[in-house]
Amino acid sequence: MYKRILLKLSGEALMGDRQYGIDPDRLADYAKEIKTVLDQGIEVAIVIGGGNIFRGVAGASKGMDRVQGDHMGMLATVINGLALQGALEDQDIPTRLQSAIKINEVAEPFIRRKAMRHLEKGRVVIFGGGTGNPYFTTDSAAVLRAIEIEADVILKGTRVDGIYNTDPEKDAKATKFDYITFDDVLRKGLKVMDTTAFTLSQENKLPIIVFDMNKPGNLLKVVSGEKIGTTVNL
Ligand code: UDP
Repeated sequence: MYKRILLKLSGEALMGDRQYGIDPDRLADYAKEIKTVLDQGIEVAIVIGGGNIFRGVAGASKGMDRVQGDHMGMLATVINGLALQGALEDQDIPTRLQSAIKINEVAEPFIRRKAMRHLEKGRVVIFGGGTGNPYFTTDSAAVLRAIEIEADVILKGTRVDGIYNTDPEKDAKATKFDYITFDDVLRKGLKVMDTTAFTLSQENKLPIIVFDMNKPGNLLKVVSGEKIGTTVNL
């Protein structure tokens, strides 16, 4: 169904049941899920968040300079990227980590053409460092990179199984959308991504699928076109 996907994983997803940091078992599970998709011949790029380690806004709210905080957040995504790279390599999956901030001893710099070449060769490309700019999020990085590398879709792996009319973790009567348009998400004031990321996706006609990444087999089902999660499209 898809030739090339961009998978967005939040930093928090890597925590598993922990309060902070990285759960190696969760990482290993994700690596296995990703392998099932690669085995279908689908090219996989990944943008990883950093919220399990540091968020710039949280630091700034405690008196830290926001830009420094965001730099720390971006470095956190590189740490997560390395951890994910390790877990993928443990499954014999060839990977490259590209960073938006220069950290050459640790990761390749982000070079679009190189990233696309890696993907064509079947390597998983992990994009760390977000967009490389403060005041952005890794959701914006995910949309930006997806457009740049001409991915067919953004798969936003979360711990909820889609987009609901109200918060399903707080409201038992919340109902899920199978499909929703970008316009309806905005009209209803639903939260899918931050506005910058969301409108960038809309303007570039890049569909987003929000799905539960923690349910084994879901990632493969999504790329096989099964009705999993919520699809946001024009
Ligand atoms: N960040 C940033 N610019 C970017 C992406 C991320 O400054 O382009 C910083 C920001 O401080 C953010 C942190 O990195 O809070 C971690 O990213 P994010 O909160 O998007 O991670 P997630 O919520 O996906 O775990």
